[in-house]
Amino acid sequence: MKARILAERCIGCGLCVEICPEVFTMGDELIAGATADEIPEDATDSTRDAASACPVYAIDLH
Ligand code: SF4
Repeated sequence: MKARILAERCIGCGLCVEICPEVFTMGDELIAGATADEIPEDATDSTRDAASACPVYAIDLH
């Protein structure tokens, strides 16, 4: 599984970074970023939690 931030939707609330810092980071312009790497097995649950928690549906999992 991989994660991608839909930057045009992100409002920089920081929730995804709080829930899953292994995968999500906050950029300088207060837009979240996601690692381009395959998400490790032990972080998939928290990645899904972060995607569900995003208030603007800006996290695409694929
Ligand atoms: S939870 Fe959603 S809106 Fe908030 S920083 Fe992460 S991607 Fe952006």
